[in-house]
Amino acid sequence: MTTTHPSPLTTDLLRALKPHQVLTRLSERLNYRYDAIQFGVTPLAVVLPESTADVVVAVKAAKAAGVPIIGRGAASGLSGGVTPLQESLVVSFTRMTGLRIFPERREAVAQPGVVTLRVSEAAKPHGLTYPPDPASFRTSTIGGNLGENAGGPMCFKYGVTGDYVKALEFVDTDGDIHRLTRDCYDLAGLLIGSEGTLGLMTEATLRLIAPPKFTRTLMCHFAEVGQAAEAVSSAIAAGAVPSKLEFMDTACTNAIEDYLHLGLPREAGAVLLVDTDGDDPAMVDAELELVAQACEAAGGTVKRAATPAEADALWQARRSISPALGRIRPQRMNEDIVVPRSALPDVVREIRALGDASPFHLVQFGHIGDGNLHPNIMFDPRTEDEAAVHDLAHQIALVAIRHGGVLSGEHGIGTMKRDFMRDAVDPVTLSALWDVKRALDPAERLNPGKILPEMLMVDR
Ligand SMILES: Cc1cc2nc3c(=O)[nH]c(=O)nc-3n(C[C@H](O)[C@H](O)[C@H](O)COP(=O)(O)OP(=O)(O)OC[C@H]3O[C@@H](n4cnc5c(N)ncnc54)[C@H](O)[C@@H]3O)c2cc1C
Repeated sequence: MTTTHPSPLTTDLLRALKPHQVLTRLSERLNYRYDAIQFGVTPLAVVLPESTADVVVAVKAAKAAGVPIIGRGAASGLSGGVTPLQESLVVSFTRMTGLRIFPERREAVAQPGVVTLRVSEAAKPHGLTYPPDPASFRTSTIGGNLGENAGGPMCFKYGVTGDYVKALEFVDTDGDIHRLTRDCYDLAGLLIGSEGTLGLMTEATLRLIAPPKFTRTLMCHFAEVGQAAEAVSSAIAAGAVPSKLEFMDTACTNAIEDYLHLGLPREAGAVLLVDTDGDDPAMVDAELELVAQACEAAGGTVKRAATPAEADALWQARRSISPALGRIRPQRMNEDIVVPRSALPDVVREIRALGDASPFHLVQFGHIGDGNLHPNIMFDPRTEDEAAVHDLAHQIALVAIRHGGVLSGEHGIGTMKRDFMRDAVDPVTLSALWDVKRALDPAERLNPGKILPEMLMVDR
């Protein structure tokens, strides 16, 4: 099949929508079977809605045809959230890019296809900003951020996507439109982070804030990771609330150094990058000093940025992780565990040992303030065994669970960690999660096969 794919589904869609909104050619549909880490099944058709009414049409047509529906943003997801597991209708939100700023209410009203960075850009002339800052914010969309409850380096002080949602519109599995606020039965909270398995979000009212006037930056390197974790814990205990608090291990630092030759300390066991911010420069400086003292007391070597340009140069290391890792192998499995901060040294060491015992190159970095760690396994799917990669990812998940952690901080469960849910969630709770799914999507048509593993008889 190279051109059209006529079916009752596409006939219905083409009758109700404009021709350019329905993609049926194989060459077009092929582009919608992957996210940033995984390939799936080519969808039956792709719809490009321009309004909530178009989404309703798509959902009703899929229901009539008995076809699964997958909501899709920029497909930058790292857990297989948008990869179809069977022939499906993909609803791609990239044309729903309406964005209105209400400065007097400090709110933005965004359609799901709005690129994340665009919200802050549009708010800036009004002296406002939108803090959630996934590293992918130049490409990711608000819909995808809502789907995964995305975070970023600023989440330790400022929170994640869900903390900024005041109201939400979504289309349910039957094609009915709901408008949710958050004052009772927080159904919006349930939708946020549900990875398109409970409804399609079509509009969000987002809280904006005044950006801090001053920012200070430091980088600190330590002989070993335990010192970095100790420094972070004592800085926070002393009252510091850094706006960014990022960690990189030796393998990560070396990958960046191989790529950009920034002069990073190759021998360091751990590197911390820290920002403090606020409206009073003396307090911002004092807070950075609190962190610097904690770092030095833990045995670290601190480098403070004297100018915004120097700060930018220090942060270049963190920004370069993705391209640096891309040079090592064409593909990577990006874990997203969260563990108690006190457990980080043991967790990082145990994961390092697992990586060293495997045939794969493994690096670790993350938002250390929240205990959110991203062990990345690099591999070449043409020559290396993907099942072994999955097995290593499973071992890493088990380390997190053993230390009282969880599977995902911000990237979601998707298909990648679905099988690990049995280790992380007890059968009674898993059964309750299935009850929620079936209450909102009884026919299991919304993004099937994601998040929840099949219930076994033993689970019931
Ligand atoms: C280089 C790189 C760096 C990254 N850094 C970060 C980071 O710092 N923090 C972070 O949190 N993530 C990060 N990510 C992961 C990814 O960018 C985020 O998960 C992001 O939120 C996905 O947005 P998207 O528009 O690409 O969504 P997609 O990948 O298209 O979709 C993600 C999920 O949301 C669902 N979805 C999409 N739109 C809707 C909708 N309208 N209604 C209901 N469900 C919907 C999809 O079905 C899917 O399950 C990174 C990814 C890359 C490639």
